[in-house]
Amino acid sequence: MIEICHIGLGANLGDPLAQIDWAITALADLPASHLEAVAPRYRSRAMGPGRQPDYINTAVRLRTALQPLSLLRQLQRLEDLRGRTREVRWGPRTLDLDLLLYGDHCVSTPELTLPHPGLGVRNFVLAPLLDLDPHLCLPDGRRVASLLARVGCAGIVRLSDREPQ
Ligand code: ADP
Ligand code: MG
Repeated sequence: MIEICHIGLGANLGDPLAQIDWAITALADLPASHLEAVAPRYRSRAMGPGRQPDYINTAVRLRTALQPLSLLRQLQRLEDLRGRTREVRWGPRTLDLDLLLYGDHCVSTPELTLPHPGLGVRNFVLAPLLDLDPHLCLPDGRRVASLLARVGCAGIVRLSDREPQ
């Protein structure tokens, strides 16, 4: 089975723009998968504990034959390659790769939740998703456009192609 899925990317340590570029190249190389589209990048204020550097966020659309858990493990392997440590939930990270949507699949296990639990309330996730597909809906029928309109765009800025950071 081939599915369309959406992956959220975030980084706020160690040259975040370079981390995101590295991740996009790595996602394009995933087995049994085809990277279809890459959203613009956003600079967003960190939501985690304490003072943290701003994040760079974006999202991609991937066509894949990998099963959801296999894909999640591939994403975690890429996070690990960038030296991510996991001691603080929502703490600073070199690279965060979230499986946001996997077709219309709904999953609720300790290792994997689909859609990603933060999706509906995080503008830095919703905005690049909307850029990828203005008509995108969640499996329950809610529109990404409506969710973003409700959350608002405070704290996020879309970067132009030429803007360094
Ligand atoms: P967040 O991405 O919400 O900021 P973390 O990246 O720190 O938080 O959370 C990582 C944990 O979330 C991992 O243990 C992973 O198994 C779990 N997880 C559950 N669902 C997903 C998903 N859809 N995508 C990525 N990680 C997920
Ligand atoms: Mg994550």
